Amino acid sequence: MLTQQEITQETVNKAGVFGQIDKLGHEQVVFCQDRETGLKAIIAVHSSILGPALGGTRFWNYKNEAEALRDVLRLSRGMSYKNSISGIHLGGGKAVIIGDPAKLSSEAFWRRYGQFVNSLNGKYYTAEDVGTSTADMEYVSLETKYVAGKPDYLGGGGDPSPFTAYGVYLGMKAAAKKAWGTDSLVGKKVLVEGVGNVGTFLTERLVAEGAIVYVCDLNEAKLKALANRLPVNVVAPGIAYDLDIDIYAPCAMGATLDTDNIERLKCRVIAGAANNQLEDELEHGKMLIDKGIVYAPDFLINAGGVINCYMELGGYNRDRAMVGTERIYDRTLEIFAKAEAEGLTPHFAALKLAEERIAAIAKLSGKW
Ligand code: NAD
Repeated sequence: MLTQQEITQETVNKAGVFGQIDKLGHEQVVFCQDRETGLKAIIAVHSSILGPALGGTRFWNYKNEAEALRDVLRLSRGMSYKNSISGIHLGGGKAVIIGDPAKLSSEAFWRRYGQFVNSLNGKYYTAEDVGTSTADMEYVSLETKYVAGKPDYLGGGGDPSPFTAYGVYLGMKAAAKKAWGTDSLVGKKVLVEGVGNVGTFLTERLVAEGAIVYVCDLNEAKLKALANRLPVNVVAPGIAYDLDIDIYAPCAMGATLDTDNIERLKCRVIAGAANNQLEDELEHGKMLIDKGIVYAPDFLINAGGVINCYMELGGYNRDRAMVGTERIYDRTLEIFAKAEAEGLTPHFAALKLAEERIAAIAKLSGKW
């Protein structure tokens, strides 16, 4: 497996298709096309050492194919680390579908996608991600058993987002404890960027605890609906990073922690659901330390959804999923302590722990 220090934005961008796969250490990448339905998907299996690779399917109108490939490679690698650090017996994978969900989605489309997932014979399990829903997964399940995030009436755990939001909330509280010595969020000013599935559930928890919540989204209808039922302050995305806040919770797309945004941010804590928040793991992780910002690693605290999906594979049990998600609080505190003890950023401390588990289990192969 590649050591983290070797992975920079520049090396990934310059590498070409096989070069990227090689640099990020993927096992298999599958390109799927169906002319009839217009389906264009890429399934990436980063690692199956800990078990079958599980990660959701993102349906997004990518600018181009290179952007889609880069996204699926980064996201699937992140799933290997997320599943490893969460202590579940799953490898890391992810899929992206290129196009506009509103134009392409249909029963045939999703069933054809299910057939592609099935062709991997259980090496990859799919689930929801941005742009996909439990209803889509129901169609997928007609063609393959290798799907999680199914509705409860099909024996599934349903929408993983409430679990993801709960884990993010607990990770945020752990980060608050590190920053201020108490995990109370009462009176803390929190910016939730993106009030989709996860951002909405997170906002509900923050409001219930007594935080002062600012929300932004590109979708005005979602903002309006939320502001009609909860006491939140709506802000324009353009000014969000300049707000005087305590906590920034990225719950939209990844890579918002770039040089420009980090310079603008005035918060003490960053804890959110978005995957791959650091534009450059090394450079921007260090920038956050230099600014005295406590950063809760994304793949550590947004694991509630995948923990819920994992519980589905052996016969779904909601209580076990909740208990599994609750461990995120202690694990986040442990990572902050490890980072401090070893002189690492929290992101690299978490990556190191995740890689060590994968390496230890890899050594067991063929030894029984
Ligand atoms: P979603 O699609 O339901 O919500 C995302 C929201 O972000 C949308 O409302 C969208 O309009 C908004 N948005 C997009 N770009 C924006 C921008 N530049 N500024 C402000 N808002 C913007 O997705 P979700 O399921 O809530 O997931 C949110 C993030 O969390 C994603 O990055 C996803 O990969 C990650 N995540 C989700 C889960 C889960 O269980 N759903 C699990 C782990 C990680």
